[in-house]
Amino acid sequence: MVTDTRRVRRTDPGEPDDCPVFTLHKAFVPKEAREDIARGCRTAGIGCRDCKAVLLEHLFRFLEPVWERRRALEKNPERIWEIFEAGNSRARRVAQATMAEVRDALGF
Ligand code: SF4
Repeated sequence: MVTDTRRVRRTDPGEPDDCPVFTLHKAFVPKEAREDIARGCRTAGIGCRDCKAVLLEHLFRFLEPVWERRRALEKNPERIWEIFEAGNSRARRVAQATMAEVRDALGF
């Protein structure tokens, strides 16, 4: 991923607010850790690799419950079909109600 282009060398300070990696930090990394990253970036105290490692650690922590749920569902394909059926049934009810409104509005 492209980072702040000012950080050509590990010793070049950067500006996290101009870096797409830091945008992801804002979404997944707690404020205190994010402030450390921003400081490290601006002072060249950390490299982009260190910065991305912190991001990945928090991103994986966020995604692990999703992956866990997926693994559980993979072991129970029947449950997946039940979920599909429930969604299908809900969607059909909504579509029927919408079509009833449309027919009503058109005077059918
Ligand atoms: S240290 Fe992080 S925020 Fe700073 S330029 Fe590198 S990847 Fe971007």
